Amino acid sequence: MKNKERVAELIERAADLILAGKRVVVFTGAGVSTESGIPDFRSPGGLWTKYNPEDFTFQKFLSSREARIKYWQLFCDPTIASAQPNPAHYAVAELYRLGRLDCVITQNIDGLHQKAGLPDEKALELHGTHAYVKCISCGKRYTREEIVVRLEAGDEAPECDDCHGFLKPASISFGQAMPERETREAEMRSRLCDLFIVIGSTLVVYPAAHMPMYAVQAGAKLVIINLSDTPLDEYAEVVIRAKAGEALTALLEQVKIKMQLSSHGP
Ligand code: NAD
Repeated sequence: MKNKERVAELIERAADLILAGKRVVVFTGAGVSTESGIPDFRSPGGLWTKYNPEDFTFQKFLSSREARIKYWQLFCDPTIASAQPNPAHYAVAELYRLGRLDCVITQNIDGLHQKAGLPDEKALELHGTHAYVKCISCGKRYTREEIVVRLEAGDEAPECDDCHGFLKPASISFGQAMPERETREAEMRSRLCDLFIVIGSTLVVYPAAHMPMYAVQAGAKLVIINLSDTPLDEYAEVVIRAKAGEALTALLEQVKIKMQLSSHGP
């Protein structure tokens, strides 16, 4: 069987699982946003070929002004700052509008699910967000825009107006604690769902990568849409090796067709 036919068959199976699911959770990684022009970390040409992961630990951020400056450069990187949602983000938001999704758990900090129309409270951002900035000492919040003005005016590593603590984008660095509410809720929703759909993640970054295992251990079915192998492929009912944008567009179409057919009865 040709690859295209095989993918079409797998998409149809995934659409059936979505329609049969009572609580469907989508889990996304950097791969859902590569078609928006944001490179992932681990693919060839990924962000780690431009930035050094060792410069992005929380420890380094606290101890080195140079590391803080690099963090702010990543914050302003135009590939992330000006990215727009792609068909995969729109399809996920549409699945939510159709009443087929419980929530989206994302490792991404780009905010593209919400830009595509997913309600804020339905996006659980496990690694935080670049949508705003926080003082790591007193917690004061700043809008992205007000900090960009300061960075553009030459303040390379901005500090808090109130307490002079270090400001930091509200994303989570390696070695920094995960956001409590989001992590707790993501874990709970992963354990309660009956279908868990991974889109564009290598599933090697923990604790985020525990989520699909929580779902599988609790009896949920697993669908993986990713260009490369993941360690959890063997647990999946359906593994689709295709670009997220194409796969999700086709999947949404199948779901809509099947919903229409079932509303018209036999
Ligand atoms: P990763 O870089 O480890 O893996 C991305 C996966 O997506 C790879 O397996 C790759 O084969 C696949 N992929 C790439 N393009 C794809 C496409 N068009 N369709 C389908 N699959 C595609 O990413 P990760 O698992 O998310 O973990 C890396 C960490 O990097 C996460 O913590 C995340 O927070 C962070 N990150 C976020 C962004 C973002 O916000 N857009 C970008 C880079 C990294």
